Amino acid sequence: MLRLPEFELLSPSSVDDALALLAEHGSDAMIIAGGTDLLPNLKHQLFSPKVLVSLSAIDELKTMRNEGETWWLGAGCSLHDLAENAELQMVFPALTEALGAIAGPHHRVMATLGGNLCLDTRCVYYNQTQFWREALGFCLKKDGDTCHVAGGRKCVAAASNDSAPPLIVYGAKVETLGPNGRRSLPMDQFYVPDGIKNTCLEAGELVLGLRVPTPNSSVRAAFHKLRRRDAIDFPLLNMAVLLECDDKRVVQRLSIAVSALAARPNIVRGLDKFLGETWDDELEAKVIKRAQKGSIPLTNLATDPAWRRALVPVFVKRLLNACAPD
Ligand SMILES: Cc1cc2nc3c(=O)[nH]c(=O)nc-3n(C[C@H](O)[C@H](O)[C@H](O)COP(=O)(O)OP(=O)(O)OC[C@H]3O[C@@H](n4cnc5c(N)ncnc54)[C@H](O)[C@@H]3O)c2cc1C
Ligand code: SF4
Repeated sequence: MLRLPEFELLSPSSVDDALALLAEHGSDAMIIAGGTDLLPNLKHQLFSPKVLVSLSAIDELKTMRNEGETWWLGAGCSLHDLAENAELQMVFPALTEALGAIAGPHHRVMATLGGNLCLDTRCVYYNQTQFWREALGFCLKKDGDTCHVAGGRKCVAAASNDSAPPLIVYGAKVETLGPNGRRSLPMDQFYVPDGIKNTCLEAGELVLGLRVPTPNSSVRAAFHKLRRRDAIDFPLLNMAVLLECDDKRVVQRLSIAVSALAARPNIVRGLDKFLGETWDDELEAKVIKRAQKGSIPLTNLATDPAWRRALVPVFVKRLLNACAPD
């Protein structure tokens, strides 16, 4: 049986107190929210903090509100509450679909949006016991000096948070607070292409929440995810598409994000050139081709990357069909 290591649990009731505790304990401390990812990782000895600073008693992180042009989603909101919220389901269907497809129902009650955003990257050579990893000589991300996937000195463990692709296509910004003040970061700046730590969060900084622009009524967005067991598993591939066309089927906005590939979610580039074109089968084929280009799965997850790669165009087509004008 895997056991938790010893640690001290501190439970501040305000963001200011949490920041003070993080500053006081420095690299000995880690943040814990729902604990649904961190606790298994502690059992696998992937981290060994002396202190866990819990965010679960901080009510100010659990707020969610419609601010008119944007929505505020607090980092401490549970995935269950967000996924089941009828208003959010109407406004951000791709996001609630993704949140409702994370882990299992019990996890979603405990798990938070902030924890999902800051989820550690995953790899078949990393999410293993200490004994397993040691037998292989460890790896670059933890205790070793080489990468078994890329062969070199770069970790390409997969960003596996299902909330990221929909938040990217909706144009969300991550709001953080730390020793250097408050920051508002677009999602593509929040994530960095380094599997060892794939966010730009600084030491002692925490995520307060997300500000997501309220979409026009003509925006359509959808999310799709590949996993072994639909009831519980992490993504092997996940994707969100947002498409807005006017009443003459002319494309006004198009955004695609694909993840569970490498360390950073892939925001499909070069889609702007399709703005102003009329939506039809020919344009759909061009968009699929473009999305396929940068979406290359690696051997970082325990499944055949060729299969994941073959599913990229299938997913894009399904999602575009779901979002296309009638
Ligand atoms: C069986 C199983 C299946 C899973 N399936 C999925 C899945 O399908 N998709 C998926 O995306 N995830 C999955 N997960 C992972 C996890 O349940 C979710 O990602 C969850 O949203 C994590 O949130 P949490 O609040 O529990 O985070 P925690 O485990 O508490 O924390 C995760 C990380 O985020 C950091 N953190 C938490 N909150 C903040 C904050 N506000 N600011 C800065 N850092 C913070 C923590 O320090 C830690 O590093 C699964 C987990 C399990 C055990
Ligand atoms: S991608 Fe390479 S370095 Fe990163 S966790 Fe996997 S094996 Fe380790």
